[in-house]
Amino acid sequence: MATFLFDKIVFGPVKSRRLGVSLGINLSPVAGKWCNFDCVYCECGLNAQNPAGSNKIPKREEVSEALEMKLKEMQEEGSVPDVITFAGNGEPTMHPHFASIIDDTIKLRDAYCKSAAISVLSNSTMLHKPAVVEALKKVEQNIMKLDSGIEETILRINQPSGRYAVVDVIENLKQFDGQLILQTMFTRGHVNGLWIDNTTEADLAAWEEAVRKIRPRQVMIYTIDRDTPFEGLKKVPVQELRIIAARIKDLGFKVSVSG
Ligand code: SF4
Repeated sequence: MATFLFDKIVFGPVKSRRLGVSLGINLSPVAGKWCNFDCVYCECGLNAQNPAGSNKIPKREEVSEALEMKLKEMQEEGSVPDVITFAGNGEPTMHPHFASIIDDTIKLRDAYCKSAAISVLSNSTMLHKPAVVEALKKVEQNIMKLDSGIEETILRINQPSGRYAVVDVIENLKQFDGQLILQTMFTRGHVNGLWIDNTTEADLAAWEEAVRKIRPRQVMIYTIDRDTPFEGLKKVPVQELRIIAARIKDLGFKVSVSG
């Protein structure tokens, strides 16, 4: 199916289902995917389908210059983003200068659009690095992925490229003392002849237990919205997402649903 790569360092603004008017920052190469996950639902396609090849990740200065230029342009037009979002063609926290880029972004946001929040959409795999955790603590919306509490399901859905241990990721997420947003994509379907489903009772029970341990200030649950690399993957009906959300609300957590 037709997946999509961002062709700029700074893109948009776009209207996001979950975040409002969002100006995006892509810390991955502009013409290739660069992620240590290969989620079966990734809108950028699979790493092998869109290899970064010789395309380089942007330098810290290039990110700062591109963002300042766009914010100046928006200021002249009298428009302001609700949010500046680190997303794009891969995992932003893999960038070796992620922490410095966050500092630069905070300065530019304060200079050009003080009311905008800064969001980072992350797959939660780089939290063994103290500098990444400290940088994520500085932004208003650190939105961290956990698609199941069961490791086998995560290995099937997110297809990590290196070692992955869900117990370690949950421990790392506890470092935020609840000052994080947990994001979970629910989906199911056949992928290369394998049935994938993170909505089973066993998955939901393990995920609820993880939410209890992590204590996020908010949980965002959603399902696929655009084309994914596999046609067999299906949306989870919004009514079902609301039932899942109610379970988390009953535990005392704030939940948002995007169907
Ligand atoms: S973590 Fe994000 S960028 Fe990486 S494969 Fe998954 S959806 Fe794609």
